[in-house]
Amino acid sequence: MVKIRLFLAINFNDEVKSRINEIISLVKSNSTQGRFVGAEQLHLTLEFLGEVQRHRVDLIKKIMDGIESSPFELEISKAGFFKRSEGDVCWLGVKENGALFSLQKKLHQSLLGCGFELEDRAYKPHITLGRKVKVNAGFDLSKLEGMAEGIITRVDKIDLMKSEFSNGGVSYTVVYSKPLGWPGSL
Ligand code: ATP
Ligand code: MG
Repeated sequence: MVKIRLFLAINFNDEVKSRINEIISLVKSNSTQGRFVGAEQLHLTLEFLGEVQRHRVDLIKKIMDGIESSPFELEISKAGFFKRSEGDVCWLGVKENGALFSLQKKLHQSLLGCGFELEDRAYKPHITLGRKVKVNAGFDLSKLEGMAEGIITRVDKIDLMKSEFSNGGVSYTVVYSKPLGWPGSL
């Protein structure tokens, strides 16, 4: 039985990725260790599916196609660290966003309804910038937040992503994209 590691995500355009990459550079230069995310791999996870049998991909595509959600704006704000003993996860958050939560909820419910096993944790939208990060004591998070201010992007599609290990690192590829819009309006 062939399984693939999948997640649903919002990917960013090059301009947004390059602005976030500048933020990563600042954290990097103020850290003693960290595994930072490459600009190409920056994304916002909507739902982590984990290891899924390959033949179920068509069903996931159908679920994505059945989601009704208009395009919306996403504004990046806030930054923080999830504390971990081996080094923290550094992340950027998004401004309060009803459209994002509603989209995530629809996906979550449809996937559950089709028998996918999902984590039952509250959705905390975040863009991971780095893992195992040990930032210098006294580092000022508001600097990151200042740089993140005004990063706004239009979300007009959602992507099904495959995650795999290659050359000692993780790489993602888009398996399927679903444009956002109400049926009949595309
Ligand atoms: P690595 O595991 O090597 O650190 P990664 O976390 O980027 O790399 P995956 O574990 O395949 O790669 O995860 C893909 C995406 O799904 C990432 O955005 C990750 O944060 C998210 N993710 C992974 N596991 C979970 C989980 N259990 N719950 C929620 N999101 C998850
Ligand atoms: Mg992971």
